[in-house]
Amino acid sequence: MTVLELRPREECAFDEVSLGEVMLRLDPGDMRIKTAREFRAWEGGGEYNVARGLRRCFGLRTAVVTALADNPVGRLIEDLMLQGGVDVSLVNWVPYDGLGRTVRNGLNFTERGFGVRGAQGVSDRGHTAASQLKPGDVDWDHIFGTLGARWFHTGGIYAGLSPTTPEVTGEAMAAAKRHGAIVSYDLNYRPSLWKSYGGQQRAQEVNRALAEHVDVMIGNEEDFTACLGFQVPDTGEDLTGLEAANFKAMIGQVTAEFGFSVVATTLRGVVSASVNDWGAIAWSAHDGFVEARHRPAMEIYDRVGGGDSFASGLIYGLLTTGDLQEAVEYGAAHGALAMTTPGDTSMASLAEVQALVAGTGARVQRLPACSWRSAAASRRQTFSDRSSMTTLRWGLIGASDVAATRIIPAMRQTGHQIAGVWSSTGEHAEQYARQHEIPDATSSLDELLSRPDIDAVYISTINRAHHAQTLSAAAAGKHVLCEKPVALTLPDAWAMVRACDAAGVVFGVNHHLPCAGTHREIRRLVTAGAVGQPLGVRVFHAVHLPQRLATWRLNDPAGGGGVPLDITVHDAAVLNRLLGKPLTAVASGVRQGPWDAAVDDAIMSAIEYEGSVLVQTHDAFTVQYAGTGLEVHGTEGSIFGRDVMTQDPVGSVVLRDASGEREVDIPDRRDLYEVSLEAFARAVDEKAEPAVTGAGGVRALAVALAVQEAALCGRRVPVSVEPVEG
Ligand code: NDP
Repeated sequence: MTVLELRPREECAFDEVSLGEVMLRLDPGDMRIKTAREFRAWEGGGEYNVARGLRRCFGLRTAVVTALADNPVGRLIEDLMLQGGVDVSLVNWVPYDGLGRTVRNGLNFTERGFGVRGAQGVSDRGHTAASQLKPGDVDWDHIFGTLGARWFHTGGIYAGLSPTTPEVTGEAMAAAKRHGAIVSYDLNYRPSLWKSYGGQQRAQEVNRALAEHVDVMIGNEEDFTACLGFQVPDTGEDLTGLEAANFKAMIGQVTAEFGFSVVATTLRGVVSASVNDWGAIAWSAHDGFVEARHRPAMEIYDRVGGGDSFASGLIYGLLTTGDLQEAVEYGAAHGALAMTTPGDTSMASLAEVQALVAGTGARVQRLPACSWRSAAASRRQTFSDRSSMTTLRWGLIGASDVAATRIIPAMRQTGHQIAGVWSSTGEHAEQYARQHEIPDATSSLDELLSRPDIDAVYISTINRAHHAQTLSAAAAGKHVLCEKPVALTLPDAWAMVRACDAAGVVFGVNHHLPCAGTHREIRRLVTAGAVGQPLGVRVFHAVHLPQRLATWRLNDPAGGGGVPLDITVHDAAVLNRLLGKPLTAVASGVRQGPWDAAVDDAIMSAIEYEGSVLVQTHDAFTVQYAGTGLEVHGTEGSIFGRDVMTQDPVGSVVLRDASGEREVDIPDRRDLYEVSLEAFARAVDEKAEPAVTGAGGVRALAVALAVQEAALCGRRVPVSVEPVEG
């Protein structure tokens, strides 16, 4: 049974029609509005974004009712709308007076936040054509009767634009209902809109009156309190991180008063501008409460448009499946994807949304019949400490020590299968396969890569071999998890990234440190502003090379031996995530170990990161008893990570600031390699990113190469992180 009674598709020219203002959105990119010299232009508007998402991502037939001043800015907005595919035949074009005194087009400047700096928007939308629409200006009976629409969407932004727009909104909603369209309304409370129109009290009068016409009411926590006057229990002024339980209690009051068929909300907890907890919950009388998969600490690129994309995903789900659980998963997944790209509007594809939804276990029938995906899905397993995950069938390229000591146990622990191993000599391959109970051994890479029962390869050969082996694996359509350093040169490394992109396979680099619970906590603290502005970082990564590994690392510089490519590259994988862009490096290296090494076995470096942050590293094969560590010192505090630059899930993190010193709880002590493998499998399953992407691995290599060169030439060397041709 479906939640809503929908008009048949054949009767209607449009699946969905939105009413709202469409503005020119000006995006300063990485700059701030007040310092920008260039802006990128997009079109955007809360209600319109929903029509665009439904058209562009979900392939439905949508239109927008709006008004634009007929000047080149209005025509630019139209041009952008045409690109989005939303039907523009219902746009009201208003003659321009040459000045903008009587009618204008709205502008909206929005800068992205980052870490401790929140996103900021500046609206310049007074006297716009859309805000001047009056009752009677639009022939609603023609739109909903003659043409026909299955769904009508509008919201509290448009209703708050001017004294006339509440009436226009009410008139449209009434007509939509008269002709059998489902009416959805996104409360979208914006205090600035209501400031000169009677404030929150007027917002509540208008929204409560319009709510009478609504079938599907959408809002976030604040909207329900500010626009409809309901109280969320047990929360103060700050509603971030609202518990689903509180929302459920409030919905009881809402549905007792209004006859909504569906109520849905996003649940957003702001950890920082770049990290949000993200979830969604919906209610219908038919289903009760259903919750989308919660995505804690989700990294976001641009939060604008997340709520609108939630609405379009939800509407798509209700229109096509009639299942509320699926609908809320579609909404949450589409919202999550929209926040990975700039602009109001989503750049996601339906396949991407479906892949993300499928990862939640929701009932989605329309996955493409792709062999690795269906095979992977069939092997889905449940683990006690997490919901569900995909496991893969692996081919091992390299009969290596790290595979034997770390990766094979981690693969088995997390339910992955190892289908075969490749080594350059058949004898070694056979012996390794016997020793590690791997069913198949080969010295022919082609043979391994042509096996249809292998989804992904793990490359742990000597460093100089990574490049060619990754290119071969990508050409064979295998996902690649490659050991660090990703390659020996930046052109080779970027060529690997491009080859995997072109082949459509996931490419991850097995830097284990960013997967550690300790490092994730350190990142979270720094992102949340616990140390203020970072000033300096000290890395203590001088360790003792075990005898069994004292081979190519010491005697084969051409094969990729040496401290920078073995240890500094790991530091860089941590530092780049923590600090952003590395700029330059200086370094000194010596040979001090009890061996006849062909490379320096101890190096100290100083690396400068963007924002005048200095890093010092001590990386060596020669120090037995120092222990490892990572310290982050900022304007407001210092973090001391002890024993955290290791392969094991150990170590402690202490935060010291004006209020004293305290040990930070590390909630996740899972094996680092298991975390890396789980993230990789999820990346394959959900088309998400692995723990360290190929590009992340290349940028870590860039730092290591700069340190290596600086130690050789004795000068400051720039770090080159921009992609280069290979
Ligand atoms: P091994 O010393 O075990 O060597 C790996 C393979 O490389 C061997 O099986 C052998 O292949 C080949 N090989 C070894 N020596 C030579 C040589 N002199 N010339 C040509 N080929 C050689 O390596 P590790 O396990 O220590 O390291 C493998 C990879 O994993 C490296 O890239 C390393 O940087 C990385 N690594 C990553 C770690 C992490 O925590 N992420 C930890 C340790 C290593 P064959 O079977 O064909 O003879």
